[in-house]
Amino acid sequence: MVSVVFVRASEFSLIEAYFAHGAAERADVTLPIGDDAAAVCVPAGHELLVSVDTLVSGVHFPEFTAAYDIAYKALAVNLSDMAAMGAEPAWMTLAITMPNSEAAWLAEFSRGLFDLAQAHGVALIGGDTTQGPLTISIQIMGFAPTGQCLKRGGAQVGDLVYVSGQIGDAGLGLALVQARAVPSFCSSNQSYFIQRLNRPTPRIGLGLALRSLATAAIDVSDGLAADLGHILERSGVGACLNISALPIAKACHDDAIAWQSALIAGDDYELCFTVPPQQTQMIEALALSLNCPLTCIGEIEFEQGLRMRSADSQVFPMKKNKGYQHFD
Ligand code: ADP
Ligand code: MG
Repeated sequence: MVSVVFVRASEFSLIEAYFAHGAAERADVTLPIGDDAAAVCVPAGHELLVSVDTLVSGVHFPEFTAAYDIAYKALAVNLSDMAAMGAEPAWMTLAITMPNSEAAWLAEFSRGLFDLAQAHGVALIGGDTTQGPLTISIQIMGFAPTGQCLKRGGAQVGDLVYVSGQIGDAGLGLALVQARAVPSFCSSNQSYFIQRLNRPTPRIGLGLALRSLATAAIDVSDGLAADLGHILERSGVGACLNISALPIAKACHDDAIAWQSALIAGDDYELCFTVPPQQTQMIEALALSLNCPLTCIGEIEFEQGLRMRSADSQVFPMKKNKGYQHFD
């Protein structure tokens, strides 16, 4: 497409300087950046999994976020979708719209992008570069043995509900950068919580291992209550969570803001998944081998909807929570 604003020569040199080199190189990319489309080979016996996520400045990250972190997060949230599907990530395309082409900003952006791409062996195989309000879309592609990817719809009554890592951290990080109220513990650990917001850890290894263990999985992008709600709806079941089991920052345990952050704030990019109870030992072994906490937080039930059980065994319904909605 012909762009009226960008001078073509500078658009091409920009792509060459900041995007064409530096991600992982893969032998299965048969046609890289430079043509009208790229070509890749999906391994025999596998299916292609494709997902796209867009980050808009001021919506998905505060305007003042560092270029490195914007790129890192844009790829991390896409990798997290691959993790939730039990897919091995392989390729990505990048559509970037930015107000101007500032060299220092672009250098930091591509460094953040390529650091994480290298860590996960992901090649950048194409994209689009345009001028306008800062918006980044990454399309991630990966593969899984045909018919074996994880889905949201398989949870069974009696399955246990697990979540990886610690939840609510990113929500507390966002409260910190927006100078909203936070538990005092967070103020003395600011860099940890802000790091959890800006550089989420995609649980790729966990997703791959769960292919043979989990009945359903999702990544926690919109808040645990909303995302587990998607598993429940797709599976036609309900769940009861034990409040005291939720893996939130220890020092926040008696703080209402921390609980809210764990259940309602998003952006943690941990995996929430369901497994039959007989797999408990396998999950414990997996947590050790991945060095990642995997916490049983409740159980799938026949009765639809999400309920919470308090420490004194009182059960109360969780108000339906839709998570962040763009057009509400
Ligand atoms: P077209 O005119 O066909 O849309 P472009 O001029 O936009 O092609 O892009 C030229 C080549 O550079 C294509 O191979 C495209 O995939 C790639 N490309 C463009 N922008 C990016 C980017 N931000 N990151 C990686 N590759 C890009
Ligand atoms: Mg183009």
